[in-house]
Amino acid sequence: MSTVKGYAANTVKAPLTPYTFARREPRAGDVVIDIHHCGICHSDIHQARDEWGGSIFPMVPGHEIAGKVVAVGSGVQKFKTGDTVGVGCMVDSCGTCDACRAGLQSYCEKGCVYTYNSREYDGEPTMGGYSERVVVDEKFVVRIPSNLSLAGAASLLCAGITMYSPLKHWNAGPKSRVAILGLGGLGHMGVKIAHALGAEVTVLSHSMRKEQDARRMGADHFYATSDEETFKKQANSFDLILNTVSAEIDWNAYLNLLRLNGSMVVVGLPGVNASIAPGMLLRNRRSVAGSMIGGIPETQEMLDFCGQHNIECDIEAIPIQQVNEAYERILKSDVRYRFVIDMASLKAS
Ligand code: NAP
Ligand code: ZN
Repeated sequence: MSTVKGYAANTVKAPLTPYTFARREPRAGDVVIDIHHCGICHSDIHQARDEWGGSIFPMVPGHEIAGKVVAVGSGVQKFKTGDTVGVGCMVDSCGTCDACRAGLQSYCEKGCVYTYNSREYDGEPTMGGYSERVVVDEKFVVRIPSNLSLAGAASLLCAGITMYSPLKHWNAGPKSRVAILGLGGLGHMGVKIAHALGAEVTVLSHSMRKEQDARRMGADHFYATSDEETFKKQANSFDLILNTVSAEIDWNAYLNLLRLNGSMVVVGLPGVNASIAPGMLLRNRRSVAGSMIGGIPETQEMLDFCGQHNIECDIEAIPIQQVNEAYERILKSDVRYRFVIDMASLKAS
């Protein structure tokens, strides 16, 4: 065991405070990673506030981890000391079910082990990336392309793959019209990746405030959902809507924007149920679906794609001492477009 400094929520809704805990000694297949940066995902807030139920405390959040390998176990094949690597939302899965064998670990039939707020298969709670170091099986470690900065790449590990996977699965490309609903951490990566895939990209946002940013990221069109007149004109327009909204909204209003055979893919997870009018689905043979993160091979593919297209997240780097303030700003949609914790700041705690 080695002792590691981090930040934790000790109880539900408590502010995060400094917390020291133990990491396991590396096993044969493990990689030890010095964490340089960790992104703040809205899922960190949902879980620290127990909005999905079943949270485990104390909780060290963080599943957008970028850092350098500082040690490897005796059986590690793919990584060596000094490599620049990332860890996303998962640290283990059964490895034998159909989903795992297809490289789709986020759909593991046994249930994958999440990076934090989860339990290893031996029952030990997992602790995330708001910390100095992490010890992870090499099967769940991916390589960050050398042309990307660690700060700008960290959030690709969740926000990037959560957008890339449905864009690929639903064939976003040169002939498709893709709408990104909500321009936050996930949404802004959706715009950049969909644009790089060649799709015609529309952003649907609360207000017009983020228009310039969205166009710089590659959006072709931008509409405020609060402008009813303009919104209505978008009826029957899109092949694919990626719904990243973290709060309760009326899905029917957005389903109505899908053209023939269009799909709305839900990735936002507010922790409340939504209702769907069957007529909205029948018209235009529409579908509604969900998508969860993405598998490890696809995460590596996404990182390589982002490397080739020079895609990084737009970030605001913060010291860990500002994490609670950052949570409040995310809740107000006041982040352009991802907070990333500079883990060097932990030394001051
Ligand atoms: P975020 O940065 O807070 O972005 C969410 C965006 O939703 C906001 O920027 C805002 O965009 C829009 N929004 C917020 N409240 C709204 C409201 N009341 N009405 C309409 N729009 C609203 O969050 P994120 O980190 O991107 O995460 C988004 C959601 O995805 C969270 O629920 C998170 O838990 C979930 N998530 C899911 C997966 C997965 O695997 N499926 C992975 C990661 C995260 P505008 O200002 O543009 O309107
Ligand atoms: Zn996330």
